[in-house]
Amino acid sequence: MAGVEFVDVRKSFGAFPVIKGVNIDIADGEFVILVGPSGCGKSTLLRMLAGLENISAGEIRIGNRVVNGMAPGDRDIAMVFQNYALYPHMSVAQNMAFSLMLKRAPKADMDQRVKKAAEILGLTKLLDRYPRQLSGGQRQRVAMGRAIVRDPQVFLFDEPLSNLDAKLRVAMRAEIKELHQRLGTTTVYVTHDQIEAMTMADKIVVMHDGVVEQVGKPLDLYDTPANLFVAGFIGSPA
Ligand code: ADP
Ligand code: MG
Repeated sequence: MAGVEFVDVRKSFGAFPVIKGVNIDIADGEFVILVGPSGCGKSTLLRMLAGLENISAGEIRIGNRVVNGMAPGDRDIAMVFQNYALYPHMSVAQNMAFSLMLKRAPKADMDQRVKKAAEILGLTKLLDRYPRQLSGGQRQRVAMGRAIVRDPQVFLFDEPLSNLDAKLRVAMRAEIKELHQRLGTTTVYVTHDQIEAMTMADKIVVMHDGVVEQVGKPLDLYDTPANLFVAGFIGSPA
Protein backbone atom coordinates (compact mmCIF):
# COMPACT_ATOMS: atom_id res chain seq x y z
CA MET A 1 0.00 0.00 0.00
CA ALA A 2 1.01 3.61 -0.42
CA GLY A 3 -0.10 7.18 0.05
CA VAL A 4 -0.41 9.73 -2.73
CA GLU A 5 0.94 13.25 -2.90
CA PHE A 6 0.28 16.09 -5.33
CA VAL A 7 2.90 18.84 -5.04
CA ASP A 8 2.08 22.13 -6.78
CA VAL A 9 0.63 20.25 -9.73
CA ARG A 10 -0.32 22.29 -12.79
CA LYS A 11 -1.89 21.47 -16.11
CA SER A 12 -2.72 23.53 -19.16
CA PHE A 13 -4.42 22.44 -22.34
CA GLY A 14 -2.72 24.66 -24.88
CA ALA A 15 -2.64 28.11 -23.28
CA PHE A 16 -5.64 27.31 -21.09
CA PRO A 17 -4.75 26.47 -17.45
CA VAL A 18 -7.14 23.96 -15.89
CA ILE A 19 -5.14 22.83 -12.82
CA LYS A 20 -3.52 25.81 -11.15
CA GLY A 21 -1.14 24.61 -8.45
CA VAL A 22 -2.74 21.77 -6.49
CA ASN A 23 -1.34 20.30 -3.27
CA ILE A 24 -3.01 17.23 -1.80
CA ASP A 25 -1.65 14.77 0.74
CA ILE A 26 -3.36 11.39 0.90
CA ALA A 27 -2.33 8.96 3.62
CA ASP A 28 -1.80 5.28 3.12
CA GLY A 29 -5.20 3.57 3.26
CA GLU A 30 -7.23 6.77 3.22
CA PHE A 31 -10.51 7.11 1.24
CA VAL A 32 -10.32 10.59 -0.27
CA ILE A 33 -13.00 12.20 -2.40
CA LEU A 34 -12.33 15.00 -4.87
CA VAL A 35 -15.55 16.93 -5.21
CA GLY A 36 -16.50 20.05 -7.13
CA PRO A 37 -18.70 21.30 -9.94
CA SER A 38 -18.47 19.97 -13.47
CA GLY A 39 -15.41 21.30 -15.31
CA CYS A 40 -13.36 22.18 -12.19
CA GLY A 41 -10.60 19.72 -13.08
CA LYS A 42 -11.39 16.57 -11.06
CA SER A 43 -11.01 14.10 -13.92
CA THR A 44 -7.89 15.83 -15.18
CA LEU A 45 -6.29 15.48 -11.75
CA LEU A 46 -7.22 11.80 -11.55
CA ARG A 47 -6.04 11.14 -15.11
CA MET A 48 -2.68 12.73 -14.29
CA LEU A 49 -2.38 10.45 -11.25
CA ALA A 50 -3.20 7.49 -13.49
CA GLY A 51 -0.67 8.59 -16.11
CA LEU A 52 -3.32 9.08 -18.79
CA GLU A 53 -2.50 12.79 -19.01
CA ASN A 54 0.88 14.53 -18.78
CA ILE A 55 1.40 17.07 -16.05
CA SER A 56 2.62 20.55 -17.02
CA ALA A 57 4.45 21.26 -13.75
CA GLY A 58 4.81 19.92 -10.22
CA GLU A 59 5.19 16.44 -8.86
CA ILE A 60 2.95 13.44 -8.21
CA ARG A 61 4.12 10.75 -5.79
CA ILE A 62 2.72 7.31 -5.11
CA GLY A 63 4.37 5.96 -1.99
CA ASN A 64 7.95 7.17 -2.25
CA ARG A 65 8.02 7.04 -6.05
CA VAL A 66 7.76 10.17 -8.18
CA VAL A 67 5.53 8.94 -11.01
CA ASN A 68 5.76 11.94 -13.37
CA GLY A 69 6.42 10.50 -16.80
CA MET A 70 5.95 6.91 -15.66
CA ALA A 71 3.73 4.78 -17.91
CA PRO A 72 0.23 4.00 -16.53
CA GLY A 73 1.02 0.28 -16.33
CA ASP A 74 4.03 0.92 -14.08
CA ARG A 75 2.19 2.98 -11.47
CA ASP A 76 0.52 0.14 -9.56
CA ILE A 77 -2.90 1.78 -9.67
CA ALA A 78 -6.27 0.57 -10.97
CA MET A 79 -9.00 2.87 -12.22
CA VAL A 80 -12.78 2.44 -12.38
CA PHE A 81 -14.39 4.82 -14.85
CA GLN A 82 -17.85 6.30 -15.20
CA ASN A 83 -18.31 4.50 -18.50
CA TYR A 84 -16.92 1.20 -17.34
CA ALA A 85 -17.38 -0.47 -20.73
CA LEU A 86 -17.03 -4.20 -20.22
CA TYR A 87 -15.93 -6.35 -23.14
CA PRO A 88 -19.26 -7.65 -24.48
CA HIS A 89 -17.82 -10.80 -26.04
CA MET A 90 -16.06 -11.87 -22.83
CA SER A 91 -17.57 -13.57 -19.80
CA VAL A 92 -17.47 -11.96 -16.36
CA ALA A 93 -14.43 -14.10 -15.46
CA GLN A 94 -12.66 -13.17 -18.70
CA ASN A 95 -13.43 -9.49 -18.22
CA MET A 96 -11.86 -9.62 -14.78
CA ALA A 97 -8.84 -11.65 -15.92
CA PHE A 98 -8.11 -9.58 -19.00
CA SER A 99 -5.64 -7.10 -17.50
CA LEU A 100 -3.79 -9.99 -15.85
CA MET A 101 -3.63 -11.80 -19.18
CA LEU A 102 -2.02 -8.72 -20.71
CA LYS A 103 0.60 -8.93 -17.96
CA ARG A 104 1.09 -12.63 -18.73
CA ALA A 105 0.24 -13.68 -15.19
CA PRO A 106 0.37 -17.46 -14.62
CA LYS A 107 -3.04 -19.08 -15.16
CA ALA A 108 -3.35 -20.52 -11.64
CA ASP A 109 -2.58 -17.14 -10.08
CA MET A 110 -5.05 -15.46 -12.42
CA ASP A 111 -7.84 -17.93 -11.56
CA GLN A 112 -7.14 -17.50 -7.87
CA ARG A 113 -7.35 -13.70 -8.07
CA VAL A 114 -10.56 -13.77 -10.10
CA LYS A 115 -12.10 -16.23 -7.66
CA LYS A 116 -11.20 -14.09 -4.67
CA ALA A 117 -12.47 -10.87 -6.27
CA ALA A 118 -15.70 -12.62 -7.25
CA GLU A 119 -16.21 -13.74 -3.66
CA ILE A 120 -15.62 -10.25 -2.32
CA LEU A 121 -18.09 -8.75 -4.80
CA GLY A 122 -20.73 -11.48 -4.71
CA LEU A 123 -20.12 -12.44 -8.34
CA THR A 124 -19.19 -16.08 -7.83
CA LYS A 125 -22.36 -17.42 -9.46
CA LEU A 126 -22.13 -15.00 -12.37
CA LEU A 127 -18.60 -15.74 -13.59
CA ASP A 128 -19.77 -17.47 -16.77
CA ARG A 129 -22.33 -14.84 -17.73
CA TYR A 130 -21.84 -12.17 -20.36
CA PRO A 131 -22.26 -8.45 -19.71
CA ARG A 132 -25.60 -8.27 -21.56
CA GLN A 133 -26.98 -10.81 -19.05
CA LEU A 134 -26.16 -8.59 -16.06
CA SER A 135 -28.00 -5.78 -14.28
CA GLY A 136 -26.45 -2.32 -14.00
CA GLY A 137 -25.28 -2.98 -10.46
CA GLN A 138 -23.74 -6.32 -11.41
CA ARG A 139 -21.87 -4.69 -14.30
CA GLN A 140 -20.56 -2.06 -11.93
CA ARG A 141 -19.31 -4.83 -9.65
CA VAL A 142 -17.53 -6.51 -12.54
CA ALA A 143 -15.85 -3.19 -13.33
CA MET A 144 -14.66 -3.06 -9.72
CA GLY A 145 -13.59 -6.70 -10.00
CA ARG A 146 -11.31 -5.80 -12.88
CA ALA A 147 -9.60 -3.31 -10.59
CA ILE A 148 -9.45 -5.58 -7.54
CA VAL A 149 -7.79 -8.53 -9.29
CA ARG A 150 -4.77 -6.35 -9.92
CA ASP A 151 -4.31 -5.79 -6.18
CA PRO A 152 -3.03 -2.25 -6.79
CA GLN A 153 -1.54 0.17 -4.28
CA VAL A 154 -4.18 2.76 -5.17
CA PHE A 155 -7.76 2.60 -6.49
CA LEU A 156 -9.02 5.48 -8.61
CA PHE A 157 -12.72 6.02 -9.21
CA ASP A 158 -14.09 8.64 -11.61
CA GLU A 159 -17.83 9.16 -10.99
CA PRO A 160 -18.36 5.39 -10.96
CA LEU A 161 -22.02 5.60 -9.97
CA SER A 162 -23.34 8.36 -12.18
CA ASN A 163 -24.84 5.98 -14.73
CA LEU A 164 -26.87 4.13 -12.11
CA ASP A 165 -30.36 4.98 -10.90
CA ALA A 166 -30.75 6.72 -7.54
CA LYS A 167 -31.60 3.64 -5.49
CA LEU A 168 -28.76 1.55 -6.85
CA ARG A 169 -26.39 4.47 -6.39
CA VAL A 170 -27.08 4.52 -2.67
CA ALA A 171 -26.58 0.75 -2.40
CA MET A 172 -23.32 0.87 -4.34
CA ARG A 173 -21.96 3.65 -2.12
CA ALA A 174 -22.23 1.27 0.80
CA GLU A 175 -20.65 -1.56 -1.20
CA ILE A 176 -17.68 0.53 -2.21
CA LYS A 177 -17.16 1.63 1.40
CA GLU A 178 -17.35 -1.99 2.59
CA LEU A 179 -14.83 -2.93 -0.04
CA HIS A 180 -12.51 -0.23 1.22
CA GLN A 181 -12.94 -1.34 4.80
CA ARG A 182 -12.13 -4.88 3.80
CA LEU A 183 -9.13 -4.22 1.56
CA GLY A 184 -7.82 -0.99 3.11
CA THR A 185 -6.47 0.18 -0.24
CA THR A 186 -5.74 3.90 -0.64
CA THR A 187 -8.61 5.29 -2.72
CA VAL A 188 -9.04 8.51 -4.67
CA TYR A 189 -12.67 8.94 -5.69
CA VAL A 190 -14.07 11.71 -7.89
CA THR A 191 -17.67 12.90 -7.82
CA HIS A 192 -19.65 16.09 -8.38
CA ASP A 193 -22.22 14.82 -5.85
CA GLN A 194 -21.75 16.42 -2.43
CA ILE A 195 -23.97 13.83 -0.71
CA GLU A 196 -21.76 11.08 -2.05
CA ALA A 197 -18.70 12.95 -0.79
CA MET A 198 -20.20 13.65 2.64
CA THR A 199 -21.32 10.06 3.20
CA MET A 200 -18.32 8.18 1.81
CA ALA A 201 -15.13 10.13 2.39
CA ASP A 202 -12.56 9.94 5.17
CA LYS A 203 -11.35 13.23 3.75
CA ILE A 204 -12.87 15.58 1.18
CA VAL A 205 -10.96 17.80 -1.24
CA VAL A 206 -13.22 20.58 -2.50
CA MET A 207 -12.14 21.84 -5.92
CA HIS A 208 -13.25 24.88 -7.84
CA ASP A 209 -11.91 26.13 -11.14
CA GLY A 210 -8.58 24.28 -10.99
CA VAL A 211 -7.71 25.02 -7.36
CA VAL A 212 -8.30 23.28 -4.03
CA GLU A 213 -10.62 25.40 -1.90
CA GLN A 214 -10.49 23.25 1.23
CA VAL A 215 -9.43 19.86 2.50
CA GLY A 216 -11.05 18.31 5.53
CA LYS A 217 -13.21 15.67 7.12
CA PRO A 218 -16.87 15.82 6.02
CA LEU A 219 -18.14 17.26 9.30
CA ASP A 220 -15.33 19.81 9.51
CA LEU A 221 -16.19 21.14 6.06
CA TYR A 222 -19.82 21.30 7.05
CA ASP A 223 -19.16 23.02 10.38
CA THR A 224 -16.36 25.35 9.33
CA PRO A 225 -16.29 25.93 5.57
CA ALA A 226 -13.21 27.94 4.57
CA ASN A 227 -15.15 30.30 2.31
CA LEU A 228 -18.48 31.00 0.65
CA PHE A 229 -17.79 28.63 -2.21
CA VAL A 230 -17.29 25.66 0.12
CA ALA A 231 -20.26 26.71 2.25
CA GLY A 232 -22.50 26.92 -0.80
CA PHE A 233 -21.23 23.74 -2.34
CA ILE A 234 -21.35 21.56 0.78
CA GLY A 235 -24.69 23.07 1.64
CA SER A 236 -24.20 24.52 5.10
CA PRO A 237 -25.61 28.00 5.77
CA ALA A 238 -23.04 30.64 4.86
P1 ADP B 1 -14.34 17.68 -14.18
O1 ADP B 1 -13.92 16.26 -14.21
O2 ADP B 1 -14.19 18.33 -12.85
O3 ADP B 1 -15.74 17.88 -14.71
P2 ADP B 1 -12.29 18.01 -16.22
O4 ADP B 1 -11.05 17.65 -15.51
O5 ADP B 1 -12.89 17.00 -17.12
O6 ADP B 1 -13.38 18.52 -15.15
O7 ADP B 1 -12.04 19.32 -17.08
C1 ADP B 1 -11.45 20.49 -16.53
C2 ADP B 1 -11.32 21.52 -17.63
O8 ADP B 1 -10.38 21.08 -18.58
C3 ADP B 1 -12.62 21.78 -18.39
O9 ADP B 1 -12.65 23.14 -18.70
C4 ADP B 1 -12.44 20.94 -19.63
O10 ADP B 1 -13.17 21.48 -20.71
C5 ADP B 1 -10.95 21.02 -19.88
N1 ADP B 1 -10.41 19.83 -20.56
C6 ADP B 1 -10.43 18.58 -20.09
N2 ADP B 1 -9.80 17.73 -20.94
C7 ADP B 1 -9.38 18.48 -21.97
C8 ADP B 1 -8.66 18.21 -23.19
N3 ADP B 1 -8.25 16.97 -23.48
N4 ADP B 1 -8.41 19.24 -24.01
C9 ADP B 1 -8.80 20.50 -23.71
N5 ADP B 1 -9.47 20.83 -22.59
C10 ADP B 1 -9.76 19.85 -21.74
MG1 MG C 1 -15.00 14.54 -14.77
